[in-house]
Amino acid sequence: MAYDFDLFVIGAGSGGVRAARFAAGFGAKVAVAESRYLGGTCVNVGCVPKKLLVYGAHVADELEQAAGFGWTLEEGHFDWGTLIANKNREIERLNGIYRNLLLNSGVTLLQGHARLTGANEVEVEGQRYTAEHILIATGGWPQVPDIPGKELAITSNEAFYLKDLPRRVLVVGGGYIAVEFAGIFHGLGANTTLLYRGDLFLRGFDGSVRTHLKEELEKRGLDLQFNADIQRIDKLEDGSLKATLNDGRELFADCVFYATGRRPMLDNLGLENTGVELDARGFIRVDEQYQTTAPSILAIGDVIGRVQLTPVALAEGMAVARRLFKPEQYRPVDYRNIPTAVFSQPPIGTVGLSEEQALEAGHKVQIFESRFRAMKLTLTDIQEKTLMKLVVDAETDKVLGCHMVGPDAGEIIQGLGIALKAGATKQQFDETIGVHPTAAEEFVTLRTITR
Ligand code: FAD
Ligand code: NDP
Repeated sequence: MAYDFDLFVIGAGSGGVRAARFAAGFGAKVAVAESRYLGGTCVNVGCVPKKLLVYGAHVADELEQAAGFGWTLEEGHFDWGTLIANKNREIERLNGIYRNLLLNSGVTLLQGHARLTGANEVEVEGQRYTAEHILIATGGWPQVPDIPGKELAITSNEAFYLKDLPRRVLVVGGGYIAVEFAGIFHGLGANTTLLYRGDLFLRGFDGSVRTHLKEELEKRGLDLQFNADIQRIDKLEDGSLKATLNDGRELFADCVFYATGRRPMLDNLGLENTGVELDARGFIRVDEQYQTTAPSILAIGDVIGRVQLTPVALAEGMAVARRLFKPEQYRPVDYRNIPTAVFSQPPIGTVGLSEEQALEAGHKVQIFESRFRAMKLTLTDIQEKTLMKLVVDAETDKVLGCHMVGPDAGEIIQGLGIALKAGATKQQFDETIGVHPTAAEEFVTLRTITR
């Protein structure tokens, strides 16, 4: 049977755009449908605008440090409206770049909501298209627990478009987004409280990292409340919000921001017209090669709920394009040792196993840990400490994990990701010449076993 397209991609986000562009480059006839915004979550309401706001908040640190270096500055004033307008302009520029990338690679771009009407058929704006392969890359959506007053809360989607910086913010959650936005709001001057339901935020990260970040955020005056959760939210007459906690306490704020995880975006996708099944957590079930339970339909990125990071969605998109249209170049995605950063203030950079994961996996470990005051701060009164930690296999000498909390952690950890992928040993770290004077050189000069 002749199809309209070789590949029909639903969703022009990180994974969908990558798969579409490369499939077209390999000679396939490709269409992409996008209902909302080109570039998806990352470009519009994720990584990119988030990082711009983090930069904005970080300026406060630079201003605080300036006096130590001899600069006298007039009292600064921050304008949220300017930051958001400039951010929006940059996002529009990126939307245009994504449009050109797709069109220049010969992809047919369809604007509108796509709904599956069969295993090889998609409907967009009343028009039906057939395709030999269909790729679902519809991403995720913020998930807010079902409590009374949940409609009064906002999520990251709305935070990027707030008219004003709220004076008092309650951030709920203890994952990437909660920690990053607590830092943004606090850094820009809002009175910020982070509420997390468990004992300590960032579950799954290395224990030293979690504790160190907690201490540093508290030093900065961020109000961290653990074992705390909101039971209901009410709007008061003056327009502000009252959050009643499970333990009966009442907190007052102008904004309640939820970052309690993301669900797969499957709204009106028409999965019932196909044989696509979901896994126990409600994400699309796929095999090793991203094939769903309907053989002609594949899925990648946040909608399969493996690792919700843009570079992972990109790698999966690439793998699908190669598998379908350039099989001789196909290589499976390696999910081990994925480097990642949390853009908190100070930021976290991490790759490989945490100490807890290494022990759980049965490794005998040697821990090398260092805490120090960064050179840049020595001319200031700021007492912030940087943490660097290596988890090493005591038997093979392989470095199993590298963890950092401190300035530029994300930048530093990228290179260490290559070292771990190459299987570097502690001895090879030790034999690497440092770059002096940097903080990063500490990773090659850690000599004393802490534990
Ligand atoms: P998405 O990028 O979400 O793209 C899905 C696209 O599909 C969307 O454009 C959507 O409109 C479209 N769509 C959905 N349904 C339909 C339909 N039926 N028809 C047509 N179109 C449809 N990751 C990092 O690596 N680093 C970061 O710093 C980072 N920061 C983040 C900050 C925030 C606040 C958030 C929310 C996420 C962040 N992420 C970050 C995660 C990252 O954004 C995602 O992992 C990534 O965007 C997933 O890509 P995707 O292709 O699976 O989906
Ligand atoms: P996460 O899954 O990272 O964190 C969700 C947090 O919400 C956890 O602390 C969880 O607690 C808590 N939580 C879940 N359900 C409830 C509930 N019902 N009540 C109270 N608390 C709850 O999700 P995020 O929303 O922070 O981010 C989604 C994903 O996006 C991230 O996992 C990450 O993959 C990606 N991302 C990446 C970034 C980066 O690379 N820098 C930045 C932002 C997002 P518990 O731990 O107890 O389950």
